Amino acid sequence: VRTLRCPRWPNGARAAVSLTFDVDGEAALTAESSAFRTRLSSLSDQRFGIVRGLPRILTLLREAHVAATFYVPGATAERYPDEIGAIIADGHEIGHHGHRHLPPHQTSPQAQQEEVAAGLEAIERVLGVRPRGYRAPGWEVTPETFRHVHAAGFQFDSSFMADDRPYVEEHGGRALLELPVHWTLDDFPLLAFRPTFVGTLSPPDAVRDLWLRELGSAVLDGRHTTFTMHPEVIGRGSRFGVLEALVTVLMDREDLWVARHTDVADLYTAGDGVSS
Ligand SMILES: [Zn+2]
Repeated sequence: VRTLRCPRWPNGARAAVSLTFDVDGEAALTAESSAFRTRLSSLSDQRFGIVRGLPRILTLLREAHVAATFYVPGATAERYPDEIGAIIADGHEIGHHGHRHLPPHQTSPQAQQEEVAAGLEAIERVLGVRPRGYRAPGWEVTPETFRHVHAAGFQFDSSFMADDRPYVEEHGGRALLELPVHWTLDDFPLLAFRPTFVGTLSPPDAVRDLWLRELGSAVLDGRHTTFTMHPEVIGRGSRFGVLEALVTVLMDREDLWVARHTDVADLYTAGDGVSS
C-alpha cells in the first residue's frame, strides 16, 4: 500500500465525494449459478433495478446536477443498450464491471482474462465509450485479474479497501491508483436480500445515519469518499430516501466536491506518478 498526497480539491472544497452505482442486472444472479437462468421471479428483481430503479436514480441526479460513476457488466450493456445508454446521455461515467459478472476468485485464469477483454469490447461496441476504471464483481480481485486490468491500461481500480483515502495498490510489480470501497458504504450488505444471500434488510434511517457519519468524518479528514449502490436495492421506494438525503447534503454543503471517479483519478494522476 502506497499512500498519496491529497490533492487540492476544486473550488476550495474541504472534501470530495463520489456516488457510484453497480448496474448488474440479471448477470449478478446468472454468474452466481446457471440455475438462475430459469428462476424468472428472482431475475425479475434484478430487472427492476434496470427498468425502475435506474431511471429513478438518473432523474434525481439530473435534478441535483450531480455526475456519478456507473459500473456496468458488458453483458448487461448488451442486454439493455437503451437503458444503459441513458446513463451516458446524462453525462455520467461508465466503468468496467466484468462481462458476465463472474467473480474473479471463482473463475479460471483464462476466463478472468476473457471477462476483462469481453467487458471492454462490449462496452465500447454498444456504448461507444472506453471505461477508464475497473471494479471487480463482488470486489474480489485476484493476482491474475489485477495483471489483466493493469495490462488493459485502466487508469484506476475501485475494488479494494486497505485505506479510506485514494492510494496505490501494488501487486506483482504493477501499480494501480485505487479509489477504495467498503462494505459499510455499500447498500448491498446493509439493505439487500436475495434468495442465496440473507441480507440484513436494515431500516433505511440506520443506513442514512451511517453514511452521513462517514461524510462528516471525510470532511474532518479532507479526504475523498466513495459510496456504492445498486439500482435494485437503493431504487426501491423506501430506500430511495437514503440516496435523496445524501444528495441533499451534497447540494447544501458548499465545502464538498462531488465528482465522478474519473475526475478524482485525474486529480491524483496529475499530482503523482501512480501508474507503473
Ligand atoms: Zn456487481
